Amino acid sequence: MRRWSSRFSVLQDKPKLELQLCSLVMNFEFATATRIVFGPGRVNEAGAIAREFGGRALIVTGRDAQRAGRLQASLQSAGVSATTISVPGEPELATVEQGVTLARAEHCELVIGFGGGSAIDAAKAIAAMLTNDGGLLDYVEIIGRGKPLTKPSAPFIAIPTTAGTGAEVTRNAVLASPEHQVKVSLRSPLMLARVAIVDPELTYDLPPALTASTGMDALTQLIEPFVCSRANPMTDGLCIEGLRRAARSLRIAFTKGTDKDAREDMAVASLFGGLALANAGLGAVHGFAGPIGGSFPAPHGAICAALLPHVMAMNLRALRQRDPRGSGLYRYEEAARWLAGDMKAKADDGLKWVRALVLDLKVPRLASFGIQREHFADLVAKAAKSSSMKANPIVLTPEELVEILGLAL
Ligand SMILES: [Zn+2]
Repeated sequence: MRRWSSRFSVLQDKPKLELQLCSLVMNFEFATATRIVFGPGRVNEAGAIAREFGGRALIVTGRDAQRAGRLQASLQSAGVSATTISVPGEPELATVEQGVTLARAEHCELVIGFGGGSAIDAAKAIAAMLTNDGGLLDYVEIIGRGKPLTKPSAPFIAIPTTAGTGAEVTRNAVLASPEHQVKVSLRSPLMLARVAIVDPELTYDLPPALTASTGMDALTQLIEPFVCSRANPMTDGLCIEGLRRAARSLRIAFTKGTDKDAREDMAVASLFGGLALANAGLGAVHGFAGPIGGSFPAPHGAICAALLPHVMAMNLRALRQRDPRGSGLYRYEEAARWLAGDMKAKADDGLKWVRALVLDLKVPRLASFGIQREHFADLVAKAAKSSSMKANPIVLTPEELVEILGLAL
């Protein structure tokens, strides 16, 4: 934390803050996919990479399995045979069980997730359950027994086709349990991908609405780990670089999807957000996104986008009232400089910038997903217990959480 503090003191002449931050103990870990392969066209290397792990693969795709044509061609030319399972929506526990049964019947030696966060998370969970004994309910949190996985997953390759979730480098799979109306995670460092192949070309044909919601997820996953209570110097570096790129390119990717530079920036931003959230933490936006996504048919990125400006505003107000000398406000100010592209920007300029972006990207409000005031108490109770909420830069009261939902409605 010494670096941060000395920088703040130079920029803002706040010697007292420097003393305060110097007293913090630096203590962190960083783990990610064994190998990250990034670049336009690199999906064509998937076959040769897969061949290192075996000759039979299970491909897990999103709704449209046709999009995996380039992957299938690459596997074929490398002599890897493949069976495909398509995950039309967010994966449920039963989807994972079906995938495991299919992979066993087809003697698959590796699993490839190709798609958005849903397909990648489904593949990640299937790879884990192929090698670990018992059923999913032994291992998932909240509704299951939450036992730790003991065996490394079957070889797992993640290939994102959206720029948002960063699921290719996270160590958890988010699964829906419609019967419990909640989303739960299967979580273990043993689930990290062997290889993440991030090819911006795969995002060129994403329609504007999907570019907006996934891009806003990426942006949220760079802001929340940066201001959160578990931030560390490695994730700080990734967040700043990711914010810089997302800030200059998300609008362009939305209005002109064929802009290669903008798509590349957003692919980097998404990857870096995934690296950051998996090794630091998130905050109130993601604290709400779990319970809302578990109860209403709303895309994860759209929920994050609708909440982000209101959570930022509430966090700033609460930090000013209850922790005005802590690092949270300074982190929001640093984030604002990269968002607004102005080294003199203040925390409120960052908020203003995000508000304008949400309008430009035509982000729908929470009410459009069927959420009403009568749902607030239940959503707040569930969100307060989530692991993301615990990393928020300041503890928000139930009244403040209700106010956020009201403003985002
Ligand atoms: Zn997210």
